[in-house]
Amino acid sequence: MRENRNGTRLFFTLCLMILLSFVVGCSSISGKSQAESETTSVAADEMLTVRVLDVGQGEAILIHTAASDTLIDTGDVDEQDKLRRELKAAGVKEISKLILTHPHADHIGGTPVIFSDYTVKEVYDNGEPTTTKLYRTYLKSIKEKGISYRNLKDGDVLELGDGARLEILSPTEAMVETSTNTKGKRNLNINSITARLVYGSFTMLLTGDAEKETELGILDRHDKSELRCDILKVGHHGSKTSSSAQWLNAVKPGVAVISCGKNNDYGHPHDITLKKLEKINAKVYRTDTDGTITIMSDGKTYKISIGRGVEQ
Ligand SMILES: [Zn+2]
Repeated sequence: MRENRNGTRLFFTLCLMILLSFVVGCSSISGKSQAESETTSVAADEMLTVRVLDVGQGEAILIHTAASDTLIDTGDVDEQDKLRRELKAAGVKEISKLILTHPHADHIGGTPVIFSDYTVKEVYDNGEPTTTKLYRTYLKSIKEKGISYRNLKDGDVLELGDGARLEILSPTEAMVETSTNTKGKRNLNINSITARLVYGSFTMLLTGDAEKETELGILDRHDKSELRCDILKVGHHGSKTSSSAQWLNAVKPGVAVISCGKNNDYGHPHDITLKKLEKINAKVYRTDTDGTITIMSDGKTYKISIGRGVEQ
């Protein structure tokens, strides 16, 4: 009798896995999160889904739980149609939280689309201003629509519902203040909001365009046990100014995800970064060659699929 029940459960687990592979497309990898090794079968509703969207140049990441849709960054100004298409394909109806890691155009460029097409409940950024028209329009939209607006700092925690949360690792208030008060050219990448997404024992690091200086600061302020991750969204589109050896050795991802435009002018991702990721045996996914990268986790294991067409 017991064997029968186990057999039936195995049969349904296999059916669910085959169905998921079929729905999410071309190719996939499964992994066990670092703290757990047990395999479970759960309905798609109970899963956390992270989509590193193929928005060409720039970056946009969608985190879906049964309770909310959180969008981190919005891609570049010229890529608004791609953002619109990707969000529609993902079945987004409303943006619970919009987080802008830093005010460069390839991250806040799609904000006009978001404010015109969706109800946005809350907006978060790092509080570091810039002088571009795009940035001023973004702030104006928040004010006009009366959207809740807050700056995120190291130590903050954002609850995403269903037990998923974002732990903010950088910047600190002092970093933003110093940078804002510095006359001359500032590197806005340094203060990119960097966060650890936690769902059960599954963890993913989200880094915006954080550079080596940001990484070393985080290593200084945080215990290494707080930084280990299953998946790393590689900083600054795979640029050589990010992904220091100290950082990669501390966070030790099994999988590294890079968001970059096809044949981009910046040479992203850089060969040096790819070699470093190879050295730590991280499996690399890239939006320029793989399209949208979808990560699903039940809080214990995770599964990655590439290509679009995931419908919720
Ligand atoms: Zn960028």
